[in-house]
Amino acid sequence: MSQVTNIAHYIAGAHTAGTSGRSQPVTNPATGQVTGSVALANVAEVDAAVAAAQAAFPKWADTPPIRRARIMFNFLQLLNEHKDELARMITAEHGKVFTDAQGEVSRGIDIVEFACGIPQLLKGDFTDQVSTGIDNWTLRQPLGVVAGITPFNFPVMVPAWMFPVAIAAGNTFVLKPSPIDPSPSLFIADLLKKAGLPDGVFNVVQGDKEAVDALLVHPDVKAVSFVGSTPIANYIYETGAHHGKRVQALGGAKNHMVVMPDADVDQVVDALIGAGYGSAGERCMAISVAVLVGDVADKVIPKLLERTKTLKVLNGTNLAAEMGPIVTQAAHKRISGYIDLGVQEGAKLLADGRGFDGKQAGEGCGTDTSGGFWLGGTLFDHVTPEMRIYKEEIFGPVLACVRVPDFAKALQLINDHEFGNGVACFTRDGNVAREFSRRVQVGMVGINVPIPVPMAWHGFGGWKKSLFGDMHAYGEEGLRFYTKQKSIMQRWPESIGKGAEFVMPTAK
Ligand code: NAD
Repeated sequence: MSQVTNIAHYIAGAHTAGTSGRSQPVTNPATGQVTGSVALANVAEVDAAVAAAQAAFPKWADTPPIRRARIMFNFLQLLNEHKDELARMITAEHGKVFTDAQGEVSRGIDIVEFACGIPQLLKGDFTDQVSTGIDNWTLRQPLGVVAGITPFNFPVMVPAWMFPVAIAAGNTFVLKPSPIDPSPSLFIADLLKKAGLPDGVFNVVQGDKEAVDALLVHPDVKAVSFVGSTPIANYIYETGAHHGKRVQALGGAKNHMVVMPDADVDQVVDALIGAGYGSAGERCMAISVAVLVGDVADKVIPKLLERTKTLKVLNGTNLAAEMGPIVTQAAHKRISGYIDLGVQEGAKLLADGRGFDGKQAGEGCGTDTSGGFWLGGTLFDHVTPEMRIYKEEIFGPVLACVRVPDFAKALQLINDHEFGNGVACFTRDGNVAREFSRRVQVGMVGINVPIPVPMAWHGFGGWKKSLFGDMHAYGEEGLRFYTKQKSIMQRWPESIGKGAEFVMPTAK
């Protein structure tokens, strides 16, 4: 029996034990062993975190951006020093393979690098002489206390989509991470403190719906950033907006990859294997549908099947692993249920991950993985748009192949889908690529790039039911989300005034 660690909150610069009396187990998905117990905050604990953030706000907002940036630079250095430690924590609670976890931390670091440029980003616009003797300028000011509610699948990167930009812009932050993999959030809090961040600027409350609801109705929380599944994103958006907050709520996905007949088949197979089964398909940008155009299916599918069957499904700590376990027993059950459903719906099951023997996954790591939540890669052919395995987000290592006769049908299929997070098109034809990227109704598009996650300065966000709200995460959209614009018009009249003016001022 491994030791069970108590995981709780971080409020006003200190680790705080849970007082609600509620908790839930944290499990290593590779072994099935309970390794932690995470406290679930009640309303009073959320109130304490918001109060700490509120108290820290005036001084932090008044701190010159260059000084806030220096703290971000210190944090950046610490993150780089502790990158592998964070990655190991991710693998232990999420299960994704270590090298993928390192990649996740790196993509979080990108945003911190972006936030280090905050003095430049906050520079406003100035117009000299908008009217005779009058100047006008705009500046962006922080909102106050802002909250982030994050999913299990990127316990470092997704919080990092939010807090670096929010904090650098002068806000104070309350993070409510997923209770499935809560430990990295506390490690990040420690690094921020070491970097010189004043107490109360960054707080963590662990919890579930009770904590989320307390944040959504709290009058001092001015904005909520959410990333998670679509039904919860919708709920967060409606409830947050009802309580007068800014909300950006990123939801689920069903990402398609169109393969045109002229595409390079080997490149396509590499892309589908990596994007379909990487992180066990538990990425919001994972490819879950291959749209095979014309006769390309017959060239792609045999190679794809071969690779799916030989995927190295191993404990994530093993550097040879290509895919790790499924995050929880419940997720394992949901995904297996979708595989059963696909068979009932009449799709052709080419590779069946349900029979995967968990013991095998321990190979080379000396760990007993027989109790872990293991599934092999699953491949369906002849999936059709009416099937639930096509319409719904499975969020697991299940790749569905849909065959279509031509480009127009491929585009229509994607545009008719309710999700619009990411999409890819593999082709050698520049005109097809251009038409595709212009006409597709999806927020993030890859041309011969299977997972087109935008870089830090471009911002991340889907369309349709993949995002509720109008601002994308991070980048300049993120900065806009976390600040409000103020316009200042100024005149320093000579000592003799002209008297009151009653007509709408116009440029003179
Ligand atoms: P989830 O919706 O279950 O949970 C997300 C967050 O909401 C967690 O912090 C959770 O504690 C909280 N939550 C869960 N149920 C709640 C409820 N009833 N009321 C209030 N809060 C609640 O999502 P998940 O399973 O952790 O993550 C996977 C999902 O996230 C997938 O749907 C995936 O596509 C999506 N996702 C989307 C993006 C994106 O950028 N669009 C990125 C990553 C993950």
